[in-house]
Amino acid sequence: ILSRTIFNTKTPLQLSRMWYSSSVPTTKLFIDGKFVDSQTTEWIDIHNPATNEVVSRVPKATQEEMQAAADSCSRAFHPWAETSILSRQQVFLRYQQLIKDNIKELARLITLEQGKTLADAEGDVFRGLQVVEHACSITSLMLGETLPSITKDMDTYTFRLPIGVCAGIAPFNFPAMIPLWMFPIGMVCGNTYLMKPSERVPGCTMLLAKLLQDAGAPDGTLNIIHGQHAAVNFICDNPAIKAISFVGSNQAGEYIYNRGSSNGKRVQSNMGAKNHGVVMPDANKENTLNQLVGAAFGAAGQRCMALSTAILVGEARDWLPELVERSKALRVNAGSSDRVTDKPTDASCFFELGRSLLFSVDPFPGFSFLIVFYCYEILTSVLLRDFNAILFDSVSQNNVIISFMMKMDGLNVSRGSLCNSSTEKTPKRVRLAPRFRPAGDQPGADVGPLISPEAKVRVNSLIQSGVDEGATLLLDGRAVNVKGYENGNFVGPTIISNVKPEMTCYKEEIFGPVLVVLEAADLDEAIALINNNQYGNGTAIFTNNGATARKYTHEVDVGQIGVNVPIPVPLPMFSFTGSRGSFRGDTNFYGKQGIQFYTQIKTVTSQWKAEDAGVSSPAVTMPTIR
Ligand code: NAD
Repeated sequence: ILSRTIFNTKTPLQLSRMWYSSSVPTTKLFIDGKFVDSQTTEWIDIHNPATNEVVSRVPKATQEEMQAAADSCSRAFHPWAETSILSRQQVFLRYQQLIKDNIKELARLITLEQGKTLADAEGDVFRGLQVVEHACSITSLMLGETLPSITKDMDTYTFRLPIGVCAGIAPFNFPAMIPLWMFPIGMVCGNTYLMKPSERVPGCTMLLAKLLQDAGAPDGTLNIIHGQHAAVNFICDNPAIKAISFVGSNQAGEYIYNRGSSNGKRVQSNMGAKNHGVVMPDANKENTLNQLVGAAFGAAGQRCMALSTAILVGEARDWLPELVERSKALRVNAGSSDRVTDKPTDASCFFELGRSLLFSVDPFPGFSFLIVFYCYEILTSVLLRDFNAILFDSVSQNNVIISFMMKMDGLNVSRGSLCNSSTEKTPKRVRLAPRFRPAGDQPGADVGPLISPEAKVRVNSLIQSGVDEGATLLLDGRAVNVKGYENGNFVGPTIISNVKPEMTCYKEEIFGPVLVVLEAADLDEAIALINNNQYGNGTAIFTNNGATARKYTHEVDVGQIGVNVPIPVPLPMFSFTGSRGSFRGDTNFYGKQGIQFYTQIKTVTSQWKAEDAGVSSPAVTMPTIR
């Protein structure tokens, strides 16, 4: 009776006291240290790419809200810039630990909104975490320079100082790593930061903001707005913002670079790519084929450093059949293979929970325990299916119920509230974090879904263009069927051979699990091909010959090169050095260049003479220092 009441009519339960609200969770803004509901009337649906169910909605922030966020950054700037560098370092030392502690929850949010496999999502967080760890070396990274005694009693030295309010505009494909390239480096230098995550994957950035707040970042040092073009234009035009970090497509990147620069801002713009993997016949075959397959199809090819193009040199062209076999063996499936969190987080602070239940066990805790115990099946299989969260009122003695609830499949108990309930005598409300729709129990996944149905249509049409223009479709992933996820945006590994440089599938960035294969007679021909391509993000060569590798690294005009390394994304002590059509600006992301981007130099020339050695007469000629 109970289950039918809930399941069919969705009316509030009268078990003891329950409350019921709107249906889809909504993402909040983060302004001046508070997670606030947007007053906008315009919302964007966020879909789980494996099912295309709406999992939440993100607001297009109003002009007033965006202005409030920028004002908050401006107010926070001077106090934060004047905070000792050691204190800022401490915030980020705590932050890196909190990211480690919450890596699974961050990964879960990524898989839910972006679709990549959980293991890959953890890698996404991990690569961002490394940037935060590097930011903790700020006390060395921000050192200036000194040249003593440039003339008698005169020294010159430089300071590196923050530049003011900075902003970041992020893409969908790395919901953790790319925002973490941005605000931690900007903020540790003493800037305040206005972040606009991709409107398709905002959840992970919101949790990252919460963790930074928990790490001690003062209110206003990080603000988050959501939206699309209006938010981007606001950032490009707002006079308080001094620098913009952008990562995304060429269309948006060129636009933001031009608009931001013409408003006098620094802009660094990391954009699209077509990364070539050159396979020499002397390479280790086993290693090379595995690396190629992983780098072409991992993350469903939605990495800016994916090896989306192979150039088989000489006899390496005979390896094609084996390349196809290995690619076929990859499992295409929903990214999430489990649904239980071991580290609960109070995500409810940045999500409006949507349809929720408030379940009060007062004043009969024992009675309520029995109800929970005997209604376990109903609660998990029926009732919870229709609600995003349960708000659970409890008294201090009721920990047994709380721990029981924690074990319930797919639910989290907020850490803060749980601590209170176990230590305090007064009744406490235990808030369960939003229950995201599970992806089901999967045997495992190598290739997840594409971000949207539109992306799938686009990728499929680029595959078809290859066929229409005379290439050979060796492996066709378009008809892939993922059981239980028939509505997902899946495309299986696809290989197109006999591709020529003038074909559309070669010229355009496909951004899907599609490997296009070209052939070259020798290394020179391969290098010429790559240098004629408009992009310069990444490339890799597979060879066992040192001289070949050296020639390649010197002659290929690409910013990031792997030698027997398929995805050579540099660690954060170096910089991400994409070039040519993949980058606009003159200072790259993270590493030394990241610090340069987010700081300005002040050069001081000072003279302290002995008292009796004053200047005897005015000098009107240009001072020369000898
Ligand atoms: P995207 O350009 O569509 O979106 C990126 C950001 O720009 C988003 O925040 C979005 O709101 C905004 N935006 C989108 N279109 C805009 C427009 N016309 N005008 C102004 N703003 C706009 O990119 P995406 O689809 O989210 O990400 C995929 C792209 O990002 C691929 O091209 C990929 O190669 C590139 N990428 C590059 C790097 C790199 O470091 N070079 C890293 C990751 C992704």
